[in-house]
Amino acid sequence: LGEDQLGLVPGRVRVAVRLRPRNAEEMMADADFADCVELQPELKRLKLRRNNWDSDTYEFDEVLTEFASQKRVYEVVAKPVVESVLDGYNGTVMAYGQTGTGKTFTLGRLGEVDASDRGIMVRSMEDIFADLSPNTDSVTVSYLQLYMETLQDLLNPANDNIPIVEDPRSGDVSMPGATLVEITDQHSFLELLRVGEANRIAANTKLNTESSRSHAILMVHIKRSVLESEDIVSSQNGDVSHLTKPSKPLVRKSKLVVVDLAGSERVHKSGSEGHMLEEAKSINLSLSSLGKCINALAENNAHVPFRDSKLTRMLRDSFGGTARTSLIVTIGPSPRHRGETSSTILFGQRAM
Ligand code: ADP
Ligand code: MG
Repeated sequence: LGEDQLGLVPGRVRVAVRLRPRNAEEMMADADFADCVELQPELKRLKLRRNNWDSDTYEFDEVLTEFASQKRVYEVVAKPVVESVLDGYNGTVMAYGQTGTGKTFTLGRLGEVDASDRGIMVRSMEDIFADLSPNTDSVTVSYLQLYMETLQDLLNPANDNIPIVEDPRSGDVSMPGATLVEITDQHSFLELLRVGEANRIAANTKLNTESSRSHAILMVHIKRSVLESEDIVSSQNGDVSHLTKPSKPLVRKSKLVVVDLAGSERVHKSGSEGHMLEEAKSINLSLSSLGKCINALAENNAHVPFRDSKLTRMLRDSFGGTARTSLIVTIGPSPRHRGETSSTILFGQRAM
């Protein structure tokens, strides 16, 4: 398993940072103030302002400015993962950041009004369809929401408590009962994303919460029929011989997981009680256990604490090991959110 052109290595998380442009409100309110960050994309560096004179410098695998196109973001963040999924490995693309910084814009944009807006989910599926053979290969999709340690089916809202099961032998993770829709063209995929988003809004209205407080998880399962002619090396008594086994058709399964994480902003403890406090605790649990798993991978620790939360249990077979993982951390430019921006940057740094 070699390192590819973009430095995507199995077992290590590739981390990109993306800055959202100032919105209308920030252009007005922060008109007299500089952005809290300064980006040096060619150096893959980001400077976070401490005050008018000093800043701290951070390096990332990729630094995407407010001018980076959706196409470029897809190419550097997701395309290498999609390619390895097409080669039979599992892979994960995740977006982490404060609410309003562009996680959903980056991952979930359909690009119906302006095709250049298409986000990572839509572009990934385009590349998948371009590579598959419709006669022998198949794509099935499930779309889930994880809210307060409860897994809900965004394709069938009645299904609101889905278990997570890990096969002790293969290590494969499955969600029995989650709707799996076979997708045969881009049109039906867009329709599925629309249905999922509508159900997400409805479910969250019913729960009296906001989408930003839950994780949305798209799972794309690929089955390919491959002709494998394996080179077997047998070594007996120091005598090495190469045999080529006859070609036989195999079904090769892999999956791509795209995760639009809950907003990383901390719910201020003083202001939250009762349900809000429980919600904040569960978001903190899943995001902090995700952070711990990423750190453990970055440090090559033998033990990765996947068991600590449902989010990390779900990702276990598509994260670390032979899987390719890409994390995009999204930040806003406003000096008023410097604190949140700083903690987002540090989350990304710890993953490297
Ligand atoms: P999040 O999912 O992190 O809460 P959104 O993706 O909903 O954030 O983005 C918040 C707002 O900012 C939306 O109106 C979105 O269209 C806009 N936005 C986000 N990123 C960009 C970008 N790179 N370029 C232009 N607009 C953006
Ligand atoms: Mg969002």
